[in-house]
Amino acid sequence: MRVGIGYDVHKLMAGRKLVIGGIEIPHEKGLLGHSDADVLLHALCDALLGAGGLGDIGQHFPDTDPRYKGINSMKFLEQTVKLLAKKGFCPFNIDCIVVAEAPKMTPYRSAIIENLSTVLGIKPEMINLKAKTAEGLGPIGQKEAIVAWAVATVEKL
Ligand code: MG
Repeated sequence: MRVGIGYDVHKLMAGRKLVIGGIEIPHEKGLLGHSDADVLLHALCDALLGAGGLGDIGQHFPDTDPRYKGINSMKFLEQTVKLLAKKGFCPFNIDCIVVAEAPKMTPYRSAIIENLSTVLGIKPEMINLKAKTAEGLGPIGQKEAIVAWAVATVEKL
């Protein structure tokens, strides 16, 4: 069993879609980034890559590569699972946190978990998602950005 940690932050901007955990969430702003800026999937990819000793998301999917412009980050997660498999590992369990002042994540939690479960090939009960606010403090609390953290464990195939 090996463990990895991941973190990501993206700025909220008008005129962008908000995509978290592969789910499009209705909101007045979306996350800014080269890809679809799915902050949760980026943190999760980094946690899984970390657990596999495979570096980080920027090494595998650089934000300077035009192939990744506007890409659905579920593709990064799929690719990450393949990279892990090549090294002889598969995901075991996941715990993650999304810190967002708005919108509320709770209505989307089960859809996100279902989505992750399919791509990671693990049961939904092996995936935990926590939604927090920043209590109005700092840029996250002022709804300028959304942050995500993830911890992943992997086991030998
Ligand atoms: Mg990112």
